[in-house]
Amino acid sequence: MIYDGAADPVAPSTRTGGIPLVPPDFDWPRCAECDGPMQFLAQIRLDDIDPAEEGLFSIFMCQNEPGLCLEWEPESGGNRAFVFRSEPLAPADVPVGGVVLLTETAAITYAAISEVRYERARQRWHTETGGLLRHVLGQLGGPPEWLQDDETPTCGGCAKPMTFVVQLEEGHDHRTSMNFGSGCGYGFRCRPCDTASFLWQP
Ligand SMILES: [Zn+2]
Ligand SMILES: [Zn+2]
Repeated sequence: MIYDGAADPVAPSTRTGGIPLVPPDFDWPRCAECDGPMQFLAQIRLDDIDPAEEGLFSIFMCQNEPGLCLEWEPESGGNRAFVFRSEPLAPADVPVGGVVLLTETAAITYAAISEVRYERARQRWHTETGGLLRHVLGQLGGPPEWLQDDETPTCGGCAKPMTFVVQLEEGHDHRTSMNFGSGCGYGFRCRPCDTASFLWQP
């Protein structure tokens, strides 16, 4: 996933930041620890992964009291991930107050690199294209490149290990980026149950 400049904040595309596109009955998620509204981080088009699918994978995380809400853990209630199916999705009503949006909406393009490991693919893209390493915003699919131990979450619906969707870097510019403790975020889902999960590692 490569940084591709500024995006429209309500674009239906895969992006970091902006305003999430959500179904009509959506309630903006609040943090289970501090009760503040979460920050919207990113949405991934599911047809970027599989052209036969529709919908969005969407990630939120508490940034009201960074480090106090266990926002790095998948089950803490300090973050939320969603799969929004093909109902009509529209820009969410953004809550007033709290840290709810990133200050930049970043478009994402893809580069296919024939390396299994993300870290090697990232380095190879940098070497072959001369592009900046900080313009690599993550990976879609493939195996997750864990910075710490393997923390693949278990689905709350069927108790099976969830499927890896996306690994996210914090962003191309630290002034507008997400906060993963200088590490990476990891999104997972269970396709049969339509559940989603998020965590990050420093
Ligand atoms: Zn919180
Ligand atoms: Zn499941």
